[in-house]
Amino acid sequence: MPPVQAASTGTSATALPQVVRTPAERAELFRLGGPTLQQVKDNGATVSMATPKPSRNGPAVAYVQDLLDAEVDGKFGPLTEEAVKDFQQEHGLVASGVIDRALLAKLDQVFPGGVKAPATVKPAEPKPTQAPGGTKPVDTKPTESKPPVKPADPKPTPGGIDIDVLQRTCGCGAPHGTTPVPTTKHIRTEGKSIFMSSPKAHRDGGAVAWVQERLGLKPDGRFGATTDGAIRAFQQKHQLPVNGAINKQLLEALDTHGKKIALGAPTKDRIPTGRFPKPVMKVKPSPNFEPRDGEKIDSIILHDTGNPVKDVAKAENADLRWLTTPGSNASSHYIVQRDGTITQLVSDEQMAYHAGQSYLQGKDSVGKRSLGIEICNQGNGAEPFTEKQMQAVIKLVGYLREKHQVQMSNITSHAAVAMPAGRKSDPGPNFDWKRLRSSVA
Ligand SMILES: [Zn+2]
Repeated sequence: MPPVQAASTGTSATALPQVVRTPAERAELFRLGGPTLQQVKDNGATVSMATPKPSRNGPAVAYVQDLLDAEVDGKFGPLTEEAVKDFQQEHGLVASGVIDRALLAKLDQVFPGGVKAPATVKPAEPKPTQAPGGTKPVDTKPTESKPPVKPADPKPTPGGIDIDVLQRTCGCGAPHGTTPVPTTKHIRTEGKSIFMSSPKAHRDGGAVAWVQERLGLKPDGRFGATTDGAIRAFQQKHQLPVNGAINKQLLEALDTHGKKIALGAPTKDRIPTGRFPKPVMKVKPSPNFEPRDGEKIDSIILHDTGNPVKDVAKAENADLRWLTTPGSNASSHYIVQRDGTITQLVSDEQMAYHAGQSYLQGKDSVGKRSLGIEICNQGNGAEPFTEKQMQAVIKLVGYLREKHQVQMSNITSHAAVAMPAGRKSDPGPNFDWKRLRSSVA
């Protein structure tokens, strides 16, 4: 399935007044939709947050968000819940995601007086002219060792946050804070900006896998305690500020001192051309694409549309509509219907929105360097891929492999590249990879 980018969550970080009210006033406020900070902080009063979740919204949520380095908007959403759970887990509490007395007591303990350790503010840095790696072999041009940098703050913040870098140096042009799950473009692009946003759920993905692999960890794309610990150990060893953050300094140091990774598919002889002429196809342009930013196509990723609607015409019309609807933020380069019809939606030259957070052959952002093919199928492992569809997929993949010289090892599934590992399962388990591979090899 194509990744679906969530809608804006809003980011207005405003000063939320701390108001002390009478118990009756508090009760009324609580009833109306949110306890005050004082209610929540008050040891003597009940501090459990009411459900449903919207009733949690308010200054108390903002207070917690601020300490957990979540976006401070006073709205209790999934990302705040995730940040709360992370904190609870890290500090031996029940990971309920609920703002309750135990959470607040622990926050008070970790951040005495509700004061966060000041963030380490780095001076604005000029953009590097050389990619820090990932897009070039990491060991061709080692960068010079940087002079040791002393942590500006002796008390590291849990998890490590680089909000300052986030706000200032990304340069990706996207409105930060409005994309709950930033693409790896936000997190790590070649030579541009590298920042990790918070809360931690944001961090999971291909950039994390990139770091994990260079730290000698299994690249599953999940930023957890093991990754955090390994980052801190690496930072300490290489005299970087020890904060567990994936930031530019870390990535540069990993390029130089981290585990060397063989990037890209192994070079083989040129793939012979002429066996697969361009198949007949329709064109239905999708507005959902962006430039590849100079990345060369090196992979072909297969998907299924995963639409459970049984009526084939309805399902396929909906699939085509979704992938071409402005704002759906979903697309693929090609879609193959059950009757074998191939439709091109996005030019090969552009990046279609089909891969999301992803990782392949030592590099993240697979979307930037791949072609995506959606195959209309329920994706449940039960509905067969039709004979006409298989023939069309073979013709299309064979043609694209020749045209873009894609190695066999880089013809793979969304399931294989999606990050964190296990996030996607398409195409379904009954897709005949053996037939495809033997046909286009
Ligand atoms: Zn998919």
